[in-house]
Amino acid sequence: MNKINYQKELEKIIEGWACQERVPTLFLHSCCAPCSSYTLEYLSQYFKITVFYYNPNIYPEDEYVKRVEEQKRFIETLPAKNPISFMEGPYDTRRFYDIVRGLEHVPEGGERCFKCYELRLEEAAKTARARGFDYFTTTLSISPLKNAQKINEIGEALGRRYGVKHLPSDFKKKNGYKRSVELSAQYGLYRQNYCGCIYSFREMEHRCESSEMENPGIE
Ligand code: SF4
Repeated sequence: MNKINYQKELEKIIEGWACQERVPTLFLHSCCAPCSSYTLEYLSQYFKITVFYYNPNIYPEDEYVKRVEEQKRFIETLPAKNPISFMEGPYDTRRFYDIVRGLEHVPEGGERCFKCYELRLEEAAKTARARGFDYFTTTLSISPLKNAQKINEIGEALGRRYGVKHLPSDFKKKNGYKRSVELSAQYGLYRQNYCGCIYSFREMEHRCESSEMENPGIE
């Protein structure tokens, strides 16, 4: 089966709107300020965006608060052609732990992450539908560690289920990830060193311990 180029799909949609008078609205789930940086720089040329911060996967709570504040600060600072607003969803960590039960030891990038994408995208799809947005999508596909194929399949299925259009994406294409690193440096954004949940936090700690054991005394 041929792989779909989701960036090309997105470009077709943007071209379709270019000849119309109206700028469409987009409900954009964001995982963090660095991942939203290039995504917002790019999409705000073509959409009126509301950034939706819904990430009950993040551990611990003070890390969650830090990421939210950084997200808000970035939106306020970024010059954008079309308006960008912000909305925070509930930090309902219980929902995250319920959906990943039994998958705690699956390595990052596997089935636990697919559930985690779905949880966040489902909340975005439901809210986008209730508030009458033209499209919903997520920043998640910018990360080289995230499965863009899976993210888009989940988004498309949720779009059909909730009756709202999913905007296809693979933001790492066209040097999107590289640009997000540049923008993060330019705006001095806090870049976390683990994905978000307690399991990725432990994996990060384990990596650090192993590297210390291999390179004692190196700072
Ligand atoms: S590693 Fe990241 S995507 Fe995977 S479950 Fe944890 S927070 Fe979610």
